[in-house]
Amino acid sequence: MKPKAAFFDFTCCEGCQLTVVDSLQTHLDLLDVVEIVQFREAISERGEDYAVAFVEGSITRESDEARLKKIREQAAVLVALGACAHLGGVNAIKNLAPLDDVRRYVYGDQAEWYATYATRPVSAVVKVDAFIPGCPIDREEFIAVVKALLRGKKPPIPDYPMCMDCKMKENVCLFDKGSYCLGPITRAGCGAICPSFGVGCEGCRGLISNPNRESMLNVLAEHGLTPQDMAMQMTMFGAYDASQIVK
Ligand code: SF4
Ligand code: SF4
Ligand code: SF4
Repeated sequence: MKPKAAFFDFTCCEGCQLTVVDSLQTHLDLLDVVEIVQFREAISERGEDYAVAFVEGSITRESDEARLKKIREQAAVLVALGACAHLGGVNAIKNLAPLDDVRRYVYGDQAEWYATYATRPVSAVVKVDAFIPGCPIDREEFIAVVKALLRGKKPPIPDYPMCMDCKMKENVCLFDKGSYCLGPITRAGCGAICPSFGVGCEGCRGLISNPNRESMLNVLAEHGLTPQDMAMQMTMFGAYDASQIVK
C-alpha cells in the first residue's frame, strides 16, 4: 500500500505548493509510490487518513495553532515546506513593529475584524520531523527529500555555508565588490543563485546549524560593515530569530 500524503497551507503565498505541482510534472513517477489524499491547490479530495503532512506557511493567529496541532496528531511525519513554515519567513517582518500598528496599516478601519498575533514558524508550535528550505523550495530538493523519507533516511539537506556553492560557481565574492551577503552563515543548496546574479544572499534557506558568528562579524568589520548591516540583510527571511546571530 502506498503511503498517504497531504498538503496544508497557513499564511504564505502558496509558491512552495506551486513548486510541488511543478516538480510532479517532471517526476510523475512519484505518484506511483505516494498517494496524495489532500492538496487544496491541486485536487478536490479532502482525505484525512494521511501519514505524511507537508505544511506550508507560517503561524500567524491563535486559530492556526489548533488546526496545526490536529494535523500533527494525525501525521506520523510532518514536513515544514519552505521558508514561511521553516523560519517564519517574510511574514515575520511584522514582528518588528507593534502588532496593532501593523493590523491597522493592512486592514484600516476593519482592523478589529481580523485576528492576528506574532508570526512564528511551524516548529514553534508542533514537532517538525523534516524541513525543505527556501523561498520557494527547490523542485529537485523536494523530490530528494520525499525519496529519502520513503526509504526511512535522513533528508539530504545541506548543513554547510552558501559560500561553498558560490565558490563552486567561481563567483567573485560580493564582499570584494563592495557589497555584502549572508553566504557565510546561510545553508547551502540553492546553487548560490543570488550571488551568482550579483545580489547578496538574504538567507531564505535559514542559518546553518552552527553559524560562526565571530567570523561573520570579523568579515563585516574588515569591509567596514556593522552587525546592523547584517541585521538588515537578515530581515527579509530571518526576522523571527535574527536576534540569535545579531546582538
Ligand atoms: S516560502 Fe516563499 S514561496 Fe514559499 S510560501 Fe513562503 S513566501 Fe511563498
Ligand atoms: S558572494 Fe556571498 S556566498 Fe559568495 S563567497 Fe561571497 S559571501 Fe560567500
Ligand atoms: S542565495 Fe540566499 S537568498 Fe538567494 S536563494 Fe539562495 S539562500 Fe535564498
